[in-house]
Amino acid sequence: MIIGSGAAGIAAAESLRKKDATGEIYLLCAERDGYYSRPGLAYYLTGELIESQLFPFSDRDFDELGLRRYHARVDRILPEEHMLELHDGSHLPYDRLLIATGAAAARSGLPGEDLQGVVKLDNLDDARRILSLVRRGRVAVVVGGGITALELVEGLVAKGVKTHYFLRRDRYWHNVLDETESRIIENRLKEHGVEIHYNTSLVDILDHKGSVSGVRTEDGRILRCNMVAIAIGIRPRVKLAYESGLEVDRGILVDEYLRTGLEDIFAAGDVAQVYDPFTGRSIIDSLWGPARDQGSIAGMNMAGGRVVYSKPIAFNVTRLAGLTTTIIGKVGQGKDEDLIGIARGDSEIWRQLPDSIAAQQDFDVNRLRLMLGEKSILGAILMGDQTLSHALQSLVSHQVDVTPIREALLQPGASIAELIADFWTQWVKSRVPKHA
Ligand SMILES: Cc1cc2nc3c(=O)[nH]c(=O)nc-3n(C[C@H](O)[C@H](O)[C@H](O)COP(=O)(O)OP(=O)(O)OC[C@H]3O[C@@H](n4cnc5c(N)ncnc54)[C@H](O)[C@@H]3O)c2cc1C
Repeated sequence: MIIGSGAAGIAAAESLRKKDATGEIYLLCAERDGYYSRPGLAYYLTGELIESQLFPFSDRDFDELGLRRYHARVDRILPEEHMLELHDGSHLPYDRLLIATGAAAARSGLPGEDLQGVVKLDNLDDARRILSLVRRGRVAVVVGGGITALELVEGLVAKGVKTHYFLRRDRYWHNVLDETESRIIENRLKEHGVEIHYNTSLVDILDHKGSVSGVRTEDGRILRCNMVAIAIGIRPRVKLAYESGLEVDRGILVDEYLRTGLEDIFAAGDVAQVYDPFTGRSIIDSLWGPARDQGSIAGMNMAGGRVVYSKPIAFNVTRLAGLTTTIIGKVGQGKDEDLIGIARGDSEIWRQLPDSIAAQQDFDVNRLRLMLGEKSILGAILMGDQTLSHALQSLVSHQVDVTPIREALLQPGASIAELIADFWTQWVKSRVPKHA
């Protein structure tokens, strides 16, 4: 039995089916739309994708997997009875259970947050709602400092909405990007007519007959608008697990086999806080790739396997203000409560960053930044030109000793890209087995 048909739930169903050709697999999902690409929602908003392109599976794909799919919300897990209680009061028995309920956008708690015109971007219905509200001549305020907020800004701008972007601090995504990178993004937004309000917090959403009529800022200013888009982080959906007595921290605590404290209940994806035997810490990833990997391993273990999930190096390819950006390993520092989820990476690792040296090189708007540790590259960020993305992912994830080029990398004006490219080529060659 699988609760949730997102990236983790579907990957679990696939791997379960591989291991068990005939067993009954139930897939329960609270969302009518079932399985679709959540990362694709940003492109749906801008109009670069149409709705049908968000669905990776056809009915035939599902039929081939032989799943019993139900549009149903699970309200309670009754572990002692091995039973689920659904929203309509009916019950379903299970042998083994995967909780893959994902995470939901954090609520702001602001006065007026339930008014017509206040939106978030969590699911396909949210995206449809936004598209039904946007019209030329509309004015929107976007709040939040990470990727989803930016996706909202870009979606609204693409639809001709006059967009004000409120940043609580003096620059965009300060705990991941450095100042130059923040300014690159901000300038690109400004070029598209976005008005950025720095050091600005929203305290009140103003009401006119049940709809948004404006916002009030902390310093008492009033800005008239008809939409407010909020993306201030995500929270794992742990309620079901918590109420059924499972151990919960920020997410559902699971061991390296994705198993909760109960032998036959597993958790994976955005809802799971996974024990990493190498660091001894429990981590939430909030990314599509890890959600799929975890789901896949949970599925194998539900079918009787004993496969360990080991956390890969953080790797996130995204688009910021139209600029393809890859974030590998540890690139930021500091931590902002609001941004834990928005960072969609492991902000805790960044917080514990050892002293490291940032070497950087600009190529027009393209940019490469490395975080150099004592011997290896701890992280990298590439904006624009992605040629070195794969090379850097390898070097960071294998913790390759870069001592031979370390000094050269640190020279003022060093040609970092070239040094890395050459070093990587040599490294790849050195790994090819030599035949007699
Ligand atoms: C706008 C947006 C952009 C993103 N962009 C990127 C990106 O560029 N790169 C990246 O790596 N990641 C991105 N992500 C994150 C990525 O989508 C998630 O990490 C991933 O979807 C997590 O998968 P999941 O299966 O854990 O959860 P989800 O995909 O959230 O699926 C959980 C499912 O469980 C269902 N559910 C919840 N509670 C119940 C219940 N009680 N009963 C039944 N069903 C229930 C939900 O309805 C949902 O369908 C983005 C997310 C969003 C929202």
